[in-house]
Amino acid sequence: MTRGRCVYCGERSGFWASACGDCKKLLARVEELRGRVGYGEFLDGLAEAGVAKEKILVFLKADPDGKGSIQDQVTAEMTSELMQVMGLKGSQSAENVKQIRKSIEKETK
Ligand SMILES: [Zn+2]
Repeated sequence: MTRGRCVYCGERSGFWASACGDCKKLLARVEELRGRVGYGEFLDGLAEAGVAKEKILVFLKADPDGKGSIQDQVTAEMTSELMQVMGLKGSQSAENVKQIRKSIEKETK
């Protein structure tokens, strides 16, 4: 992590801040929306934060902790919820989703 750069989008964030103003706004929306809405509504909710769509996409794909991107984490939560609703045991972790997504990306290339 480079000091002064946003860990999500890489833009200047100020000396001590690890995320820029836009990404902080997006993070707050993520906390508000996650677990409550479907993926489409989730993206709409992020768009309401007033941040450029390209930046939202960069934000969603960023993986500052190496635990899976925001997109992977939210997908994992939604998948786990769906599995529970359907009466299936187990849950998806963000790492799992990341692995699955990577293997799909490899196959489709
Ligand atoms: Zn940022």
